[in-house]
Amino acid sequence: MIPSAFEYHAPKSLEEALKLLERHGDEAKLLAGGQSLLPLMKLRLASPRFVIDIGRLRGMNYIREEDGMIAIGALATHADVAASELLAQKCPLLSETAADIGDVQVRNRGTLGGSLAHADPAADYPAAILALDAEIVAATSGGARTIAARDFFVDMLTTQLRPGEILTQVRVPIQKGRTGSAFRKLYQPASGFAIVGVAARLSLGASGKIESAAIGVTGLGPKAFRAEAAEKALLGKKAGEKEFSSAAKLAPRGIEPLSDLHASANYRREMAIVFTRRALETAAARASGKAG
Ligand SMILES: Cc1cc2nc3c(=O)[nH]c(=O)nc-3n(C[C@H](O)[C@H](O)[C@H](O)COP(=O)(O)OP(=O)(O)OC[C@H]3O[C@@H](n4cnc5c(N)ncnc54)[C@H](O)[C@@H]3O)c2cc1C
Repeated sequence: MIPSAFEYHAPKSLEEALKLLERHGDEAKLLAGGQSLLPLMKLRLASPRFVIDIGRLRGMNYIREEDGMIAIGALATHADVAASELLAQKCPLLSETAADIGDVQVRNRGTLGGSLAHADPAADYPAAILALDAEIVAATSGGARTIAARDFFVDMLTTQLRPGEILTQVRVPIQKGRTGSAFRKLYQPASGFAIVGVAARLSLGASGKIESAAIGVTGLGPKAFRAEAAEKALLGKKAGEKEFSSAAKLAPRGIEPLSDLHASANYRREMAIVFTRRALETAAARASGKAG
């Protein structure tokens, strides 16, 4: 449980961190909250020669309204996101998701940027980020680029981030009109990680019909994904139990479910259906003002 020796750097600015990352290349690892990296280092599944601690950088944990969206600094902890009044009012899906991550210690140390960059197949945020059609900002010393959430997750523990890039910001839309959202997960009791987790966002028209549906699923496959077949099946339908049940059956379509000591592939597939239905029902009740 003791990591290999490494050289520790605590840069004072993002620019300094980017330069260190460029200089040390793939021999270096960024350290944010350490809740995923440190266990990997202790098990020697990761043995970086250089550890660049960005967790001490100031001014990167903001949550603020900016250009019609909510911008969140990569170092906002899960506890910051869960406690944000702004998110609770204007993008409640993200704060609800954060509140369900791990335990108090994990939420106080772990960061939004670290969770997304790590891309654990059982992590909670990816489902919400996908359902929100969020934007992710990645910086190098040469400038920054924006990556759509849909393009961000490539495979298990693999994202679109390039060597030398630091994830600096996540932007989520402000919830408008008759829109409701919900995050529901079946969690592994020891860690809180999702066996299956589903984030749903529904918008209803004046007649109560579904105008838009977005469903992000985590835990089922090697990476989080949008359940597109289920989303399409809901468009134009009335928001009702029968409609949600039949759409939820389409959520696992096209995904080869993971199987491990916590859950078999079949169990995960069935639970993805159950938790999609539950997330849709709650999102619809919230959209129509029938639930808190
Ligand atoms: C007991 C336990 C229970 C947990 N339960 C859950 C759970 O229920 N749900 C859940 O979703 N997660 C859970 N986690 C994981 C937790 O949410 C982590 O905090 C998160 O996955 C990683 O965030 P971090 O800030 O700690 O990143 P770190 O561990 O510091 O880094 C993780 C990886 O991301 C890279 N990285 C970090 N920040 C950046 C950045 N800004 N730009 C580019 N690369 C970066 C690092 O180099 C490293 O490779 C749990 C962890 C533990 C230990």
